[in-house]
Amino acid sequence: MTDKRDEMPPSLWAATAPPPPDTPALAGTVTADVCVIGGGYTGLNAALAAAEAGAKVVLIEAASIGWGASGRNNGQVIPTLSRMDPDEISASGGAKGEEFVGLIRDSASLVFDLIRRHGIEAEASQSGWIQPAHRESRMKMAAKRVEAWSKRGAPVALLDRAAMETLTGTDHWFGGWTNSSGGTINPLGYARGLARAAIAAGVTIHTATPAEAISRSGDRWEVRTQGGAVRAERVIIATNAYSTDLWPGFRREVIPVRSYQMATAPLTDNIAKTILPGKQALSDTRGDLYFFRYDASGRLITGGALALGHDWEKRIRERIGARVAAVYPQLGVPRFDYVWWGYIGMTADKAPHVHELAPGVTGWNGCNGRGVALATAIGRELGRQATGTSWSDIPLPLSPVRPIPAYEFARRIAPAAIIERRWRDARD
Ligand SMILES: Cc1cc2nc3c(=O)[nH]c(=O)nc-3n(C[C@H](O)[C@H](O)[C@H](O)COP(=O)(O)OP(=O)(O)OC[C@H]3O[C@@H](n4cnc5c(N)ncnc54)[C@H](O)[C@@H]3O)c2cc1C
Repeated sequence: MTDKRDEMPPSLWAATAPPPPDTPALAGTVTADVCVIGGGYTGLNAALAAAEAGAKVVLIEAASIGWGASGRNNGQVIPTLSRMDPDEISASGGAKGEEFVGLIRDSASLVFDLIRRHGIEAEASQSGWIQPAHRESRMKMAAKRVEAWSKRGAPVALLDRAAMETLTGTDHWFGGWTNSSGGTINPLGYARGLARAAIAAGVTIHTATPAEAISRSGDRWEVRTQGGAVRAERVIIATNAYSTDLWPGFRREVIPVRSYQMATAPLTDNIAKTILPGKQALSDTRGDLYFFRYDASGRLITGGALALGHDWEKRIRERIGARVAAVYPQLGVPRFDYVWWGYIGMTADKAPHVHELAPGVTGWNGCNGRGVALATAIGRELGRQATGTSWSDIPLPLSPVRPIPAYEFARRIAPAAIIERRWRDARD
């Protein structure tokens, strides 16, 4: 698969999302109150929120809208972090911890509300999110999660083995839990719809415009590009796993890890009614995650990880084909019409890191695999902060940039961690 910046990589979403708005490259120097760098969910939501608060906003994107993780993901809208549970998030966030938990709790509904409010065509379905337990021992973790989220008012429920079998159409799992505020979207449709909403709110978007450097120039920040510059009072760096070296240490805080995605041919009604009949989003408790969802035309969308990148398309087709047949024997090894991949940003401590990099410059890193709802919520808060809301009213814990030691080596060996995760999954 191509990963060139001048074209959107082929995927189910590139084939089905409504087209993006017309957005020219930047030519010349412009001024703004807020310059946003990156046209994914973080940047688009930050820009939209800042424009709604009355600011003049310019967003620059190196490639096209949703070209990074936002246009390539599985589209599961999940109001939790991947590894940290509410008590841990609360404890690690200090004075802001519990407010951050509240932001995450409400983040899936925020996505669906935005889609409704702006009339975005994104196949949105707030059908719920299910996390099945891959081992009986994981039921304790599920019960703990349900207790912790219930205490905080989230719409969650514990599911025993029979209830899980009814919801999923397989006896593969041991039970688990569900959050009814989650669901599924067409991820690229959502990104492109946000871009349209942002433009309608007054944001100027320039695509094919990589930021090359950020520096202080008089009383403003200057974001330089090949064809010009944006001079702004505030800058939001929204580049996440696709970061370049714009700010010291920022790129080296996340390891971009490939996640492979694949979509089957549309399933027949007879088969589809036996597999996830409620069409929820599903991702289980494995380290080498099993995940499934449908799109609007009845394709099952799943995927996985590989330790090595060579011959990736053939190997992922074989691995995931066999997995689907094991979980859903009624389907067998399906035909996959689309296979693609994107980078997920992993931090060393598996927590999202939000930063005030300098007065007037903010950014965050590290969705660790759950960023559709999270990037939406954090992006909006960074947009609000850039337009005058005081940090004391922003529910985000701040931390200093912590680059990963021996970064280039860590990046090279990171994909191999999947082998250890598979071993743990088998051992649990
Ligand atoms: C394959 C895959 C599957 C996933 N599945 C799910 C899922 O089902 N559910 C879930 O919750 N999360 C999922 N995620 C994570 C989620 O997609 C991301 O967390 C989220 O999209 C991050 O949004 P973002 O805006 O922060 O970053 P991105 O969408 O990556 O946007 C960053 C943008 O910055 C641009 N950029 C980089 N450098 C520059 C520069 N110098 N100048 C200008 N622009 C620049 C890039 O071109 C890119 O478009 C998945 C991710 C991947 C890759």
